[in-house]
Amino acid sequence: TQVIELSGVAKRYDSSGAPALGPIDLGVAQGEALAVTGPSGSGKSTLLNLVAGLDKPTSGTVTVAGERVDQLSEHASARFRRERIGMVFQFFNLLDDLTVADNIQLPAQLTGTARRKAAARAGELMELLGIQKHARAYPGRLSGGERQRVAVARALVNRPALLLADEPTGALDSASGHDVRELLVDLHRGGQTIVLVTHDPSLAEAVASRTIHLVDGHLALDTQAEAVR
Ligand code: ADP
Ligand code: ADP
Repeated sequence: TQVIELSGVAKRYDSSGAPALGPIDLGVAQGEALAVTGPSGSGKSTLLNLVAGLDKPTSGTVTVAGERVDQLSEHASARFRRERIGMVFQFFNLLDDLTVADNIQLPAQLTGTARRKAAARAGELMELLGIQKHARAYPGRLSGGERQRVAVARALVNRPALLLADEPTGALDSASGHDVRELLVDLHRGGQTIVLVTHDPSLAEAVASRTIHLVDGHLALDTQAEAVR
């Protein structure tokens, strides 16, 4: 099954010039780890925003986990993101006045999961990601790598159909960057569908089963890397 299906998708921010993206067709299958690469201004963020339903295409259809996200209202789209898409960014975006455990549980509680069940799921994830000992700490006390693990746990708490990661190692030193890279590799091995936007070829190579390269909003390359893992 396809987790993402873009059909004839184009995005124009202004009616003059060329589209910032597309038109492109792109399917991402369940369990795929897709890296999106390309120079600055090539349309990576635009693509990510369309997939996440944060913005609407000028033309074409965007289907994610069976939902036509291009047709959702802003409210429905926010809800869809919370329930079905996990997002990880360069700068963690954790809430500094909530503990690690509460940060991770929050999306589950916001989607109506009972507090006890959310806490149990958060506990599982903290164990899986090796951050259990920080459960009661506040994010400000953690290293960058630890904070990104918390952000990944939070992104996974609702068992999303899709994990979107935008330069997740961009703000990390090389040791914790390597850590987060291994984490993404493990998640992919476990069957998580991932879309990873990155400027870092070694990250793309380590994590992705497939890489697309955007140039001026077009698909310049689409490599299905041999799965040797
Ligand atoms: P990337 O993420 O690869 O750096 P973007 O998707 O951010 O590329 O940008 C693609 C093109 O669209 C660029 O030319 C950029 O200037 C333009 N663009 C992006 N966002 C906007 C916006 N909100 N308004 C107008 N132009 C935009
Ligand atoms: P780029 O085009 O290089 O991806 P952006 O302008 O899209 O840069 O993003 C700037 C920074 O803000 C990046 O670190 C990105 O991870 C982060 N960011 C982008 N969108 C969001 C968002 N919706 N919420 C939180 N952080 C975001």
